[in-house]
Formats: sequence, C-alpha cells, structure tokens
Amino acid sequence: MSAPAPPPKPWSISPTDVLAALETDAEHGLEASEASQRLAECGPNELEERAGTHPLTILWEQFTSVMVLILIAAAVLSAFLGKPLETIAISAIVVLFGILGFFQEYRAERAMAALKQLAMPVVRVRRGGSTVEISARDLVPGDIVMLEAGSSVPADLRLIEAANLRIQEAALTGESEPVEKDPAARSQPELALAERRNMAYMGTFVTYGRGAGVVVGTGNSTELGRIAELIQSVPRDETPLQRQLDRVGKQLGAFGVAVALLLLGVGVLAGEAFTDMVLAAVSMAVAVVPEGLPAVVTVTLALGAQRMLRRRALIRKLPAVETLGAVTTICSDKTGTLTQNRMTVTVIDVAGHFLELSGTGGPPAPSLSAQHERASMWDNQPPSVGLVLAAGALCNDASLEADSETGDHVPVGDPTEGALLVAALQAGLDKSALEEWLPRAAELPFDSERKRMTTVHELPDDRSKLPSVLASIRAAETSYIAFTKGSVDGLLDICSHVWLDDHPEPMDDTWRDRIIRANDDMAANGVRVLGVALRALDTAPEAPDESLEEGLTFVGLTGMIDPPRPEVERAIQVCKTAGIRPLMITGDHPLTARFIAEELGISSDGRVATGADLERMDEAKFEETVGEVSVYARVTPEHKLRIVEALQKRGEVVAMTGDGVNDSPALKKANIGVAMGIAGTDVSKEAAQMVLLDDNFATIVTAVEEGRAIFENIRRFVKFSLAGNVGKVFVMLFAPLLGITLALQPLQLLWLNLLTDGLLGIGLGLEPADEETMQRAPRDPQRPFLDAELRRRIAWIGLLIGVVALGTGYAAFVAEGPEDRTWQTMIFTTIAFAQIGQALAARSGDDSTSALDFRSNPTLGWMVVLTFLLQLGAIYLPFLDDFFGVVPLSLGELAITLGVGALVFVIIEAHKRLAGR
Ligand code: ADP
Ligand code: MG
Repeated sequence: MSAPAPPPKPWSISPTDVLAALETDAEHGLEASEASQRLAECGPNELEERAGTHPLTILWEQFTSVMVLILIAAAVLSAFLGKPLETIAISAIVVLFGILGFFQEYRAERAMAALKQLAMPVVRVRRGGSTVEISARDLVPGDIVMLEAGSSVPADLRLIEAANLRIQEAALTGESEPVEKDPAARSQPELALAERRNMAYMGTFVTYGRGAGVVVGTGNSTELGRIAELIQSVPRDETPLQRQLDRVGKQLGAFGVAVALLLLGVGVLAGEAFTDMVLAAVSMAVAVVPEGLPAVVTVTLALGAQRMLRRRALIRKLPAVETLGAVTTICSDKTGTLTQNRMTVTVIDVAGHFLELSGTGGPPAPSLSAQHERASMWDNQPPSVGLVLAAGALCNDASLEADSETGDHVPVGDPTEGALLVAALQAGLDKSALEEWLPRAAELPFDSERKRMTTVHELPDDRSKLPSVLASIRAAETSYIAFTKGSVDGLLDICSHVWLDDHPEPMDDTWRDRIIRANDDMAANGVRVLGVALRALDTAPEAPDESLEEGLTFVGLTGMIDPPRPEVERAIQVCKTAGIRPLMITGDHPLTARFIAEELGISSDGRVATGADLERMDEAKFEETVGEVSVYARVTPEHKLRIVEALQKRGEVVAMTGDGVNDSPALKKANIGVAMGIAGTDVSKEAAQMVLLDDNFATIVTAVEEGRAIFENIRRFVKFSLAGNVGKVFVMLFAPLLGITLALQPLQLLWLNLLTDGLLGIGLGLEPADEETMQRAPRDPQRPFLDAELRRRIAWIGLLIGVVALGTGYAAFVAEGPEDRTWQTMIFTTIAFAQIGQALAARSGDDSTSALDFRSNPTLGWMVVLTFLLQLGAIYLPFLDDFFGVVPLSLGELAITLGVGALVFVIIEAHKRLAGR
C-alpha cells in the first residue's frame, strides 16, 4: 500500500479534509509502523543541496592552488629541458600531494557534514497516540507536528491549531514582520505564499505562540526545496586563520619564484650551465613553498571540532574552533547551564499559610499508587494551596508522559513547568483531568520580557463537578477564569487583590510587603520563585493582549530548588586561572542569582545589576559596570545584546549563551554564540556557532581548552613547517658559495616536504592540550599569527637545520669528492632526521621527557617511525635510490646523519628549557 498523496493547495480545504486525505488523525497521529513505511517511500526530510562541497570540487581545488601550479610549471619546465624522469617524478609527487590534500579536506568536509546532521532540529510530534520527540529528518507527510515559540518549522505544514501563533517567514517571502496564523480554510485556491495564513513552511520559524499542523510536504517537495537551487552555493566557512595562512602561502610562493629567478640570473651570469641553473631555480621554488599548509590547517580545525563533539560541544561553524581559544569572557545563563534544571517545588506560600514540601534532589516521578498515598497529606490543607497547584498545572505547556519502562511520570517541556505538574500530581491533581474540567479557551504565552504567562479557562456550568481542592472557585459567578504565573515582582504591579482561602480581598501595603518578604527570603536561599494569580472573566478574549493581565488577584507563591551542577564550580575555577571572566546573566530574581553565583564562585562581592539598573545607566556607566559586576538578574534578551556590545567595546572576546527566541541577536553579536542542545529553541541553535549537547557550563570551558590546544597545534605546525623550509632554502642558497651548484634536486626537496609537512605535520596537529593550556592568559586576537616571536623561532631553528645539513654534506663533499653522490645523500637524509628531531622537540609541554612519550599522541609516534622508514627506503631500496638520484650510505654515514638529527633535538630542547626559565 502506498502513502496517500497530500492534497494540492491544502490551504483551500478544511483541516479535517486535509487530515482525511493524508489518512491521519489530529489527536492520534500516525502509527509508528505507518510512519516508517512512509519514510521509506518519501525519503528523509532534508534538502539535498545541504550535502556540502562536492568531492570533485575539493579534488579540483587541490590541483589549482598557487603552490601546486608552481610545481606543475616545474614539471613542464623539466620536460622542456629533456629530463623526462624529473617530469614524471614531480608529476607523481604533485598527484600524491593532491590526493593527500584531497583526503584531508574530504575528511574535514565529512566531519563538518556529520556535525550539521547532528544539528538537525528535534521536533515534537504526535505518533501512535502520544507525544514523542523525533529528528526533523524523520518527518513524513501525515505527521502531526507541535510548534511553539522558538521552533523552526521543520516541514511544510497545514495548520490545524493556532494560539497566537506568529511565524517569521523572511526566508521565503522576504517579509521580516512575523505573520499571524490561523487554521481556517481560505476560499481562494490561488493565493500568494505570504497570504496562506493557515500554512507554515519549512525554513521559517515561530516567534510567538503555539500551534500544531499536519505535514503536507517534506524535503525537496517543500516550498523551500523548490527554490533550493537559489541557495545551492552555501559558501564554505573560512576561518580568519585560514585566510591569513592562505595569504602567507601565496606570499611564500611569490617569494620562492622571485628567489628562484634571482638564482637563475646570478648563476647564468656567473657562467653556469643554463640547464643546471633552471633545475636549481625550480628546486628553490619547491623548497620555499609550504605544500602541506592548507590541508593540515583545515584538517586540524575539523578534527578539533570532532574532538569537541566527543566532549559534548557541537561546533556549527568552523571559525568557532579557532575563536574559542581566544575567549576572554563567558556570559552564561543560570537556569540549566549553571544549575541542573531539575526543578522541584519545595515551598508553597499562600496568604497566611506556609507549606514546606519534603522533596529534594531531582523531580520525584510518583507512580499512581504512590500518588494516592500522598494525596491524603493534602486533605487538611487550606483550599488556596490546591488553587495554587491547580493554577500552576493549568497555566502550563509541559506535560507528564509515562516512561515506557518504569511507568513513572516524566515531565516533558519546560522544567519549571514540569516541576509544577509533578507537585500538582502529588496532590492528586492531574493536568489532563484538570483540563477536562477547565478547558483552555485562550492564552497569552510566556515571554522573557514580561516574565509571565496567562491562560484563560472555561468554568463548567455544573460547578459540583469540580474536585474538592477547587472548592474555592465553585462559587465564582463568571464563566471564565484566567490564571497567570510569573515573576512575583512583576505580578505585584498588576494585582489589585489578594486571595484569602476562598475569597479576594483588596491588596494593601501590608500584604504587598509580606509577599515581597516571602519572595526575598526564598530567593536569598537560591530558591526560584513563581507567583500565581487569577482573574474572573465573563468572556474569553478573541485576541488576547496584555490588557488581559490587569486587576489580578494574587493567590500565592511557589518556590522551587534547582541545585547547581556539581562540575561547574571547578569549571569556574579553571576559567579564573585561565584568565577568563565568567558572568552570570539571568532572567531570575537578583537574590536567587546572587546566591547561586556565590555558591559557584562566580562572584563574592555581592554585587548584582538588574535589568532596571542597566536601563538607568548612560553608555559610559554601562561600560564601566560590565567591567566590574559579574551577576546580572531580571534582564531581558535586549540587555544581553547590550552587555555583549559593551564587553566587546572593552576589547573582550565574548562567549554568550542563550536559549530563547529573542536571544538570537545577542548570540549572533557575540564572538561565540552558544546555544543549548536540550533546552534551547531551534532559532537560538541556528543563530549560534556552538551548541552544548548537555547544556552544561563546564562544556564551554572544555571547548575553550580544546580551542586553545588546537590553535597551539596550528602554530606549532606552521613553525615546524616554515622553519624546515627556511633550512632547505638556506642549504640551496649557500651551497653555491661552497662550490656546490645544486645541493638538492627538486625531487628530493619534494620528498622531504612530503615527509615533513605531510606526515610529521599531521601528527603534530594532534597534540593534546597540556596542563598549562588553561593556566595561560587568553591569546590576544589582535596579534598577528606570525608574530615576532614565531618569526624569530622559525628563523633560528631554520638556520640550525640549514647549517647542520649543509655542514654534514660539505664535509662529505670535501672528503669523498663531488663525483660520488654521497654528499648529496647526506644533506638529503640529514634534513629528514633533523626534522624528526625538530618535530619531537616541538611537542607540547616544557618537560623534555614527554617528547618521547607517545601515549598522548600515538599518531605522531607512528608518523615518526614511518618517516624514518620511508627515508631509509629512499636511500637503500635499489629502485628508489635511482629515482631520487642518491646512493646508499655506509653505516657510519648513516650514524652521522642520525647523530645530527639527535643534536638538533637536543639543541631545541635545551633552548626551550633555558627560555622557559
Ligand atoms: P533564566 O535566565 O534563569 O533562564 P528565565 O528567563 O527562564 O530565567 O526566567 C525568568 C523569570 O521568568 C523567572 O524568574 C520566572 O519568574 C519567570 N518564568 C520562567 N519560566 C516561566 C514560565 N514557564 N511561566 C511563567 N513564568 C516563568
Ligand atoms: Mg531560561
């Protein structure tokens, strides 16, 4: 049986007809088996063009880089000079480099593509009668998808439910104002996309409200898929470092060509044979060009991103890997990032009564039998306690789902709301039962500016049906009741009454003070407090707006604990030794914020700036404040943006976390925008450069550490590679002064570059972070990559290698005469071994014993062995030594080259130790 085709123009028919055509049901959804059958038939819900750069493109790029073009020119030149062996050999090496580079970059590309897959949004769908979360990739026509503020629309949907649903459709229509949606059918079948108010399209996102829709198109059969050609060419993310190094590579290429021409001119004028001089010039150019540079940098960054993933940090944009190492300030949310987001209601405070619940730790997920036992303890409570719990459960978008294994009730959705559901259930109040008695008729969703939400419920005509805990509202004379929950300070501004047991009384200053005191007492102990209020209404508002939240009656407070994550305290300490300043930025109460901040060691001065404080400041004061105060409370997303900007003006490199719909601007503005993998909205994830898979602050710190190590590795590789090239250039330039026209053949130089940059370099790129990585201050992002210190080191290590190699070769030249090729073989082999010594000495850590301990980096160990064996092969295998034009060395000569290699190692190590003091 094949899947039913979605109806054409689904906006012109009713939701019922669309559902029927797709053989699905709004409440029940598709059966899992049916869904997997449809998936097999329709294919995964993804756009094909997102597959990444085509492998052939990558291959082509390998052979069109400036460096390779120089080599190809050298090969052609050799052919003209009647040296076919040279031509073939250079071409072979070009191909080898090309393939090596291709595999590196292809691997990097694949790694990033895999990361992109992981970044696929998770969607809430109804399947087989319950609500489950699946990857957007697995959506099929007929699925019922739930949307809420911050969701990206994962496929083309015909809406069947919309509560204040607003969708931003700029990606499709260019219109940046969000569009108000409603599920009613439109009579015109010909309707511009922007007018189809009962549809939601892939690639757009929900800015406000809630809704549900049935999938009518997935993957390439979505509207977005149809215009996919337009967005085919997603430019590859090049990091600033890659651009800088690309420039360095090109400059070196130009430099190499210039020196080569110079050498050619001088040689010919001095009467050398033209052919010899052309060969020397070609060698020169080859020696200068760092062939392995681009591939190693790309692969080091991409493998770094993969390593970060293993530590729960998902990198969405490659440049982030590099920027992370330079972070100087981390601005973090509190709830969920610094704390566990495992809320438990511990206190209920209603006028005149204070009830402490025994719950500690994570949310107890009571089974139904336990719930009946517990229910009895609630029987003697004042009615307003039940009212607070019922209101908290009704004004709530989370749900309790039975765990398929244990049968326990697990909260799904916002943890704050989940905790309220668990508390209500413990008192015998089940959300779904409550909703049957008091169905939701309208709502005003939560947003982080107002810090509250309201739902309107219809009261039953027959009030006796209401459970006894709701006895207090049986007498209500209206048809509707609105419940509001949110920050207590905000609620008090809009409450005119306070609820006493079973009736409202006017709010006066005594009540107000009592409520504020109760709130502050809890907050000062780190408790998260939510206030609950109600309002009687005669009608349910058609289009609810903020006028709904006026003249409320304050019912009570709920206090919940959310313990700090145990590993965060240490992570904060690590930040501080690493010269990184941690800041807490939260929408929660200042006292709650301060308590947690002090417990975790973020601040000890007790200073907290609130959003209201920030509003009052001028620019100068604002900038001064962000330099001093580490805890920000009751802030809105807009404040976050201003804090990032002010920090950046002070020269900080800022990592900023965010999870909400409105956090995108701050995430985009920050140097590293960090989204939450679990609790974050799709929109925030799309704006972020990095996603924390575990929502954990400690993971940011780990990622910074990896970022620093990766940056160090690239620096190390560039130093290694360029110093080696300086050595080779030195040999080539100064050999003629000693009577040696052509110290090394182009082939020999290419071989050396292949061994060193290609093998040793990749090994060096995998060095793990050393203990000191997080004890140094962050690197200054303004400093050029090839700074004075790096240039100095490249120069002296290069000279060292050049001098010892040329010296060894010259000694053989004098001893055995120029006819025998031993001297050249000595230079050739000495450079190879010297660079092995250099690579070992270049490893991380200042403790020189670690240089030979390969447990932390086995790849480098293997690369050293491989390089050594390949070099031996080049000089001892009969076929290869002809190819390279070298002769087998005697054991004594080999020992000398090895000794010189060891000497280079010892000298660099000794220098490191001396410089380290
Ligand atoms: P945080 O910065 O700690 O994540 P939030 O932005 O989640 O803080 O919450 C800020 C304030 O908004 C809370 O202190 C609470 O008063 C209120 N609030 C949070 N979640 C809800 C909710 N689901 N319903 C109503 N009010 C909420
Ligand atoms: Mg939050």
